[in-house]
Amino acid sequence: AKAAGRRQVRTFSAAMDAALGEQRRLEQDVQKALAEGAFHFAYQPKFRVSDLGFAGCEALLRWDHRLRGAVPPGVFIPAAERAGLSVPLARHTLHAALRQQAAWRAQDIDIAVAVNLSARHIVSGQAVELVRDALEAENGVPERLEIEVTEDVFIRDPGAAASTLEALRGLGVRLALDDFGTGYASLGYLQQLPFDVIKLDRSFVAGLGTSTRTERIVDAITRIAHGLGAKLVAEGVENPVQLARLREIGCDEGQGYLLGRPMAPEALSALARSHGLA
Ligand code: C2E
Ligand code: CA
Ligand code: CA
Ligand code: CA
Repeated sequence: AKAAGRRQVRTFSAAMDAALGEQRRLEQDVQKALAEGAFHFAYQPKFRVSDLGFAGCEALLRWDHRLRGAVPPGVFIPAAERAGLSVPLARHTLHAALRQQAAWRAQDIDIAVAVNLSARHIVSGQAVELVRDALEAENGVPERLEIEVTEDVFIRDPGAAASTLEALRGLGVRLALDDFGTGYASLGYLQQLPFDVIKLDRSFVAGLGTSTRTERIVDAITRIAHGLGAKLVAEGVENPVQLARLREIGCDEGQGYLLGRPMAPEALSALARSHGLA
C-alpha cells in the first residue's frame, strides 16, 4: 500500500510538473508573440438600437499561434499577466488600436474605438501615463477613445481604481464599465464613479424574450444608466427578439453576433462606410 501511495504521489507530481511546464511554455510564447508583434485585433461594431446606425467598435485582441492555433484572450491574457507582461500588453493594445484609428481617419473615416484594460493594469499606477503617452505618440483624439474596465478593478484596490479612473477622465477619454451586473456590488461603484458608458453583460441580454424578471431588471438598469447621464450598451445581442426588447426598453447601443462579429479592420471600415460614415 505504501508503494502504491508513493506511485500515486509520483504520478500526481508528474502531472503537476507537466501542467506547470505547459504554463511556463505558454508564458514564454506570449512573451515572444508580444516581441514579434504577433498579436492583432478583431474589431466588433456597435450600433444604435433605435435606428441601427453605426456607433463605433471594440478592439478585441487575437493571437493565432503557429502550433496552438487561435488562442482565446481568456487564456493568453492571464498568461501574459502571470509572466509580468501586463504593462507591455496594455501598451501594445493602446498603441495598436490608436494607430488603426489614425489609419481609418486618414481614409476619412472617423470611428470611435473602445479598448479593454485589465483590472491589474488599472490599479498598477501606470495606466494614466500609458494612455497619455499612447495618445501623444499616435496623434489620438481622446474623445474618440473609450476605455473599458470590469468591476474587479474595484475589488483589487477601490481607492487606486477611483483615482486612476478620475485621472483618465481628465485626459478626456471615455470610460465604460464592462460586463455590468456580473460583479457583486455594481451599484456601489456607480455611486462613486462617473462612467460615460455602462455595458450590460450578455447574461442579461440572453434572458430578453424569455424571462420577464430579466426584462424588468434590464429596464431598471437602463433607467439607472440614463439617470446618471450614461449610455447603456448591450453586449451579446444574438437574435432579433433581444434587439426588439432592447428597443422597447430604450437601451442605447447594441453589440453582438446578430449585428456584427469581430472582424478585420478593412471589413470594419467598409461596414462603417456602408453606413454612411465618411
Ligand atoms: P469582453 O470585453 O466582454 O468582450 C466581449 C466578448 O464577447 C468578446 O470575446 C466577443 O468576441 C464576444 N462576443 C461578442 N458578441 C457576442 C455574441 O453575440 N455572443 C457571444 N456569445 N459572444 C459575443 P473575446 O474576443 O473572446 O474576448 C474575451 C474577453 O477577453 C473580453 O471580454 C475581454 O475581457 C478580454 N479581452 C479581449 N481583448 C482584450 C484586450 O485587448 N485587453 C484586455 N485586457 N482584455 C481583452
Ligand atoms: Ca469589453
Ligand atoms: Ca464585456
Ligand atoms: Ca465579458
